[in-house]
Amino acid sequence: MMSVYDDRPWLARYAPGQPAGITVEHESALAMFRASVARDPDGDILRYFGGRITLRELDELTDAFAAGITDAGFRPGERVAIYAQNVPQFVIAQVGTWKAGGIAVSVNPMNRGRELGQLLADSGATVLVTLQSLWHEVAAEVVPGTAVRTVLTTSELEYRAEPGSPVECPGTVDLAGMLARFRGVAPPSVTLGPDDIAFLTYTSGTTGPPKGAMTTHRNVVFNAQTYRDWVGLSEDDVILGVAPLFHITGLIGHIAVALLVGAPLVLMHRFDAARTVETVRAERATFTVGSITVFIALMNVPDVDRDALASLRKIYSGGAPIPPSTVKAFQAMFGTYIHNCYGLTETTSPSHAVPFGVEAPVDPASGALSVGVPVYDTVVRVVDEDGRELPAGEVGELVTSGPQVVAGYWEKPAEAEKALPGGRLYTGDVGYMDAEGWFYVVDRKKDQINAGGYKVWPREVEDVLYEHEAVREAAVVGVPDEYRGETVKAFVSLRPGFSVTAEELISFCRQRMAAYKYPRQVEFLEELPKTVSGKLLRRALRGG
Ligand code: AMP
Repeated sequence: MMSVYDDRPWLARYAPGQPAGITVEHESALAMFRASVARDPDGDILRYFGGRITLRELDELTDAFAAGITDAGFRPGERVAIYAQNVPQFVIAQVGTWKAGGIAVSVNPMNRGRELGQLLADSGATVLVTLQSLWHEVAAEVVPGTAVRTVLTTSELEYRAEPGSPVECPGTVDLAGMLARFRGVAPPSVTLGPDDIAFLTYTSGTTGPPKGAMTTHRNVVFNAQTYRDWVGLSEDDVILGVAPLFHITGLIGHIAVALLVGAPLVLMHRFDAARTVETVRAERATFTVGSITVFIALMNVPDVDRDALASLRKIYSGGAPIPPSTVKAFQAMFGTYIHNCYGLTETTSPSHAVPFGVEAPVDPASGALSVGVPVYDTVVRVVDEDGRELPAGEVGELVTSGPQVVAGYWEKPAEAEKALPGGRLYTGDVGYMDAEGWFYVVDRKKDQINAGGYKVWPREVEDVLYEHEAVREAAVVGVPDEYRGETVKAFVSLRPGFSVTAEELISFCRQRMAAYKYPRQVEFLEELPKTVSGKLLRRALRGG
C-alpha cells in the first residue's frame, strides 16, 4: 500500500516506522482498556490529590457502574451525560457506560442551565452523572422535563487522599453508594465494535449551534494510538491532565491514551497553574497536551524556577493557535519545546502534529507556527471555493480524511452531509502546505471564536443578547486578546426609547452562559454594517 508520505522522504527522518495502513489495534476503546488491565492490573491509572486508583480497581468500579445503571433500567445504545470537572468519576462513568453498551455524552461543566438543557434534549440522555455542586447550582432545575431517569451525584472530594463530607442531593442516587452496592456484580454482556459510537462530543463545528459529533470506538482507538506513537508514550509515562476532560483534547490526549498505554493520568479538579507546578514535581509528570492559556499561566506562576517542570519533557499544544514567541519564551524558561498539534472535535483531536523532537518551521509571511504534518493514514487537501485541490504554497480550506474523522452528527444527517460529505471533513480552517509538507493554519472561514481553545459560536451569544428588551440588533465577533488569543465582543444597536449600559448587558449575558462565552466588550452602534441584501458584515466588525 502506498504511504501518503512516500513522496515526502523527509518525514521518515522524524517518524520512522510509521507507514500508512496502520492497524487499529483494538475492537473498541473498552477492549483497549481491558488489554491494559490484563497487562498490569496493579499499575496506577488515575491519581487525584494524592489518591490513587489502579487498573484493577478501575475495572471493578466500572463493572459496578455498568451493573448499577443497568439495574436502574439503562439499556445498550442509551446515552449517559457526564457533567463534571476533571475528577476520577468522569473516567469511571465513561468506561462504565461503555461496559453497559451505552454512549457517553460529555458536557462542559462551565455550561449553565440553558446550555445543559440543550445538550440533554439533543442527546436524549437517560442517565446524568454530575457533581453535587453542579447539581445544586445548575442541573436540579434543568433535569425535570428531560429524558433523564437516573441522576447520579458525586463529590469532587471523593477519591482524594483526605475526603471531606458529602452534600445531600435529595432525589438523586449517590454514585459512591451505587458503586459500593454493585461491587462484584457482573456487568451486562455487551459487544462493542469499531463502528459503535463511544461518545457524543458537542461542538459548534463549522455550521452552527452545538451538535453531537459521533466519535466511534475506531476513532478513539486510532487517535489514542496516534498520541502514543507520535509523542512516544508508554506505561512509564505520567500524563498530566490539564485540558478539560469534556473536550476532545482531554477525552483523547488524556483519558484514551492513558487507557491504551496503561499510564497514570494525574487529575486536578480544575486547572490551577501554581498547583500544576506542584503536581508535576510531586508526580513526576512527563507528558501533557493543553492549549496556549495553560502554558502562559505556567510561565506566570510567581517565583517559578527553571527546574519546576523538569520531568515534563513531552509537551503538545492544540485547540488554538500558539505563536512562536510563546513557544520560545516557554523553552527559555523551562527548557522544553512545545510541539504544536492541530485537529477538531470532528477529527477526534489531532489530524496534524509536529513529530516529537522536531522543531516546527514558521510561516515567513504570517509568522504562524506550523501545525505539523498530517498524522499517519491521514490525507489533507487544500481546496479553493469551488472545491478544487490547490498545489503546495496556495492558501485554501483544509479538507481532512482519515480514520479519525467522526461518523457524523447525532440525529443531524443534513448538517453532517454539509460538513463531512463522504467522510471528507471541510474544516472551516484556512491554510496551506509548504513544499516540504508542513501545514500552516492562517485564517478561519467559519464564524467560530476561539478563546484560548474554548470555542464560542456567535449566534449563541447573539440569541441571548436578543432576549434583552433594549436590544434591536446584535452581532458578536472575536477580537484579539493577549492571553486567550481571541475574546468575545458584541456590537449592539438599541431599540428607540430604550437605554442600557455595556456593563448591564455584560452581566445579563454572564448570568445566562458559560463564563468563556459572555462578551468582555460591548460597543453601541446606530446601525450594524450589512451588505445590500441585509447580511451582516462580520468581517467589517472584526476589523474594528
Ligand atoms: P475543537 O472542535 O474545539 O477542537 O476546535 C477545533 C478548531 O480549533 C479548529 O478548527 C481550529 O480552528 C482550532 N485549532 C485547533 N488546533 C489549532 C492549532 N494548533 N492552531 C490553530 N488553530 C487550531
